[in-house]
Amino acid sequence: MIEVESLCKYFGPVKAVDDISFSVGKGEIVGFLGPNGAGKTTAMKVLTCFHSPTAGNATVNGHNVEENPLGVRASIGYLPENNPLYLEMGVIEYLCFLASIHGIAPAKRKSRIDDIIEITSLQSMAHKDIGQLSRGFRQRVGLAQALIHDPPVLILDEPTSGLDPIQIQEIRGLIRKVGTEKTVIFSTHILPEAQFVSDRILIISDGKIVGEGTPDELTALAEGEAITYIGIKGDANDARLAVENAAPGSKLDTLPGTPETARFRLTTGSNAKLSERIFDAVVASGLKLVEIHEERASLEDVFNKLTRQPEDDVAQKEGEA
Ligand code: ATP
Repeated sequence: MIEVESLCKYFGPVKAVDDISFSVGKGEIVGFLGPNGAGKTTAMKVLTCFHSPTAGNATVNGHNVEENPLGVRASIGYLPENNPLYLEMGVIEYLCFLASIHGIAPAKRKSRIDDIIEITSLQSMAHKDIGQLSRGFRQRVGLAQALIHDPPVLILDEPTSGLDPIQIQEIRGLIRKVGTEKTVIFSTHILPEAQFVSDRILIISDGKIVGEGTPDELTALAEGEAITYIGIKGDANDARLAVENAAPGSKLDTLPGTPETARFRLTTGSNAKLSERIFDAVVASGLKLVEIHEERASLEDVFNKLTRQPEDDVAQKEGEA
């Protein structure tokens, strides 16, 4: 439904989108996850034909963004980042206005607007002016405007930005609901949101895609690395040898211990039955295991690692010095 190939968008020297490629299948919900300034909005603006690409290709529903912008726009419902609305208009009046702009036949407008009001649960606000609505309801109106022409693709830029926790839950639920029938790309910098709403996540940093996968795949990636803290009573060299034998090829650091107890930090890629193997190796060496606990990397750690800029590392090192 969406195909993006080596897409670039530069603003002078700023590489806002820097050679990204991805595709989104029919009915998929894909989350663009990335820190501020990562390039999410710019990528969405290219897909919605508000920016022309500097290089590369993008097609939406079979229409190329440069060759057939009208075809692309007819296929897309777009909720921009700050959800611009005419505050002095009534909700129904606004949706009616949009229905006419989208060329929905006058005879069909009422039933389409009724449907959209029901889908977005706007019934209690339908007769109010948009300016009288809370942010959460205004966001629903924003979603209603994106849905009015029944497009197959929805592009939602930070749809929960500025909402309170209850409104956030409601909008996330609404995205999942409409996502059962439509292809959705939405952006967020909130990791649990990407996890909760998306079928697949694209992690974007500094204009590039730095990670991709289903929430489960990314979580598995995070769990691939584990740090195990170990305390062993007995000779420190024997203790080290026992741990090395139990986890060959892993990174083993010696930590400050006591005269009787050696302490280690073991970083492993795969940790299947590691504790059991360490226990057996320590006992087989005639030593005593007095401490063992494991800390797994979280999905948040993976996100931080993937989106960290080189200057962050320098700043961190300077801070540690
Ligand atoms: P946010 O979550 O803060 O909106 P984002 O991931 O959506 O961030 P973009 O808004 O796409 O990121 O910005 C990517 C980069 O492009 C930033 O460095 C931004 O300053 C720059 N940029 C975006 N729009 C323009 C523009 N019209 N002119 C110049 N630079 C721009």
